[in-house]
Amino acid sequence: MAYTLSGEDVIHRVAPSPIPNPYWVAFSSSTAKLLNIPLNNQGLPSDSTWLDVLAGNSLQTNDYDFLDPIATAYSGHQFGVWAGQLGDGRAILLGDIQGQELQLKGAGITRYSRMGDGRAVLRSSIREFLCSEAMHGLGIPTSRALSVVGSDLPVRRETLETAAVCARVAPSFIRVGHFEHFASTQNIDRLKQLADLLIDGHYPESKEADSPYVHLFKSISARNAKLVAQWQSVGFCHGVLNSDNISALGLTIDYGPFGFLDGFQIDHICNHSDQGGRYAYHRQPQIMHWNMACLASALHPLVSLDNSNEEATATLTSALDEFAVVYAQNWQQIFRKKLGFTTEQDGDVKLIERLLQAMHDSKVDFTNLFRSLGEIKINAPINSISCRDEFIDRNTFDQWLEDYIARLGLESCNDLARKMQMDAINPKFILRNHLAQIAIEKAQKKDFSEINVLLRILENPYDDHDAYESYAIPPSPDLAAVEVSCSS
Ligand code: AMP
Ligand code: MG
Repeated sequence: MAYTLSGEDVIHRVAPSPIPNPYWVAFSSSTAKLLNIPLNNQGLPSDSTWLDVLAGNSLQTNDYDFLDPIATAYSGHQFGVWAGQLGDGRAILLGDIQGQELQLKGAGITRYSRMGDGRAVLRSSIREFLCSEAMHGLGIPTSRALSVVGSDLPVRRETLETAAVCARVAPSFIRVGHFEHFASTQNIDRLKQLADLLIDGHYPESKEADSPYVHLFKSISARNAKLVAQWQSVGFCHGVLNSDNISALGLTIDYGPFGFLDGFQIDHICNHSDQGGRYAYHRQPQIMHWNMACLASALHPLVSLDNSNEEATATLTSALDEFAVVYAQNWQQIFRKKLGFTTEQDGDVKLIERLLQAMHDSKVDFTNLFRSLGEIKINAPINSISCRDEFIDRNTFDQWLEDYIARLGLESCNDLARKMQMDAINPKFILRNHLAQIAIEKAQKKDFSEINVLLRILENPYDDHDAYESYAIPPSPDLAAVEVSCSS
């Protein structure tokens, strides 16, 4: 298994707890393909024993044994405060298939469940499933989702709901919190084993570097810097960027009260429990940087194995500073592309920032505005450009449009070629909260059709999907106001 640390102090060998009468709620044939699982003509596994395995009711399919399932220990900072030991409180790692770890979330109590019931509700499982696959469709690194299996087992949250198990897949689920766990307990042997494991499996280039652990740190930090730039570029807010939810592979993991922006508000908070706005949209880069500081400090004991304490601190501090540079480079590169620029010109960043400010001032729909910029014809009069109508301060936006069109004049692309390039980076479809909510409410009545419709669209979010225009429309004010509960 990819997480090969063994020993009572690190893992809990625990089988999933069964759920009564499991049924398919959602299944991703694309993730199944990644795992090489053959499917029948309904797009479900031909080997029907998978249903019980993905429900947590059995450990064997016809082809695979998952006889050594585990939950792992990790710690972490939650909302900026050291929370001590957390761990897989409801996620159980079944094993590896095709170099991917297969984990069941909501599969019952483990040693790390603390006060929790080890379960996940149908609502949050569908959200995790859809968003994992939507992120993948957007081309943003993420854990994948294979399935959601439902049961009528009651689960108490604010109200009584039902249980579900989401099967998720990633090359590794190692988190910053795993490193913090061993650093906090000063278990340097374990810390080293974990770092070596990650290097062996996922960062082999670090092994060749002068200082492998510094190289490992820089690589993880760079991946996460790029990841946040990608989130910002599609208006994605993670919602709970605690260090235990930050992947050591730079993947988006642990989908909870996430949200994609509808109307652009730079300080949008998607998690209703986040009263201080720590995880607001505009803070995500700095918060990820902060999490990388947690990782740097957890790796410090390893870097000091070959250096003095002071040297280790200085090296890691300067490695940490690279985060801001990598983030800015990626952000600029992506937003240039979103505006159809293939060259770099002075003033591009100012132009992007002016657009975002104007969008914020008028709360313009983030996704649709960028998509509509691709429609602009460079020689058409400004008053024929329809997205002008979205801006309350029309004069300011017109001024921006004039400058933008002048800037486009420095590109060699024609209108059509530019539109095609822009459509390939400005998605038409995102997993808007109200769309997920409609699918969830139907699923709660055992109608799973809407999940499949969303999956089909979101797997290819840059395509037009003519029959599904309504899925690109922002929510009406009453739907936008629906609060997504953070309990899961
Ligand atoms: P999260 O906020 O979902 O990232 O979870 C934070 C910690 O709480 C992790 O250690 C989870 O495993 C644990 N946790 C969350 N919900 C439950 C639950 N229902 N039962 C057991 N542990 C849970
Ligand atoms: Mg988590």
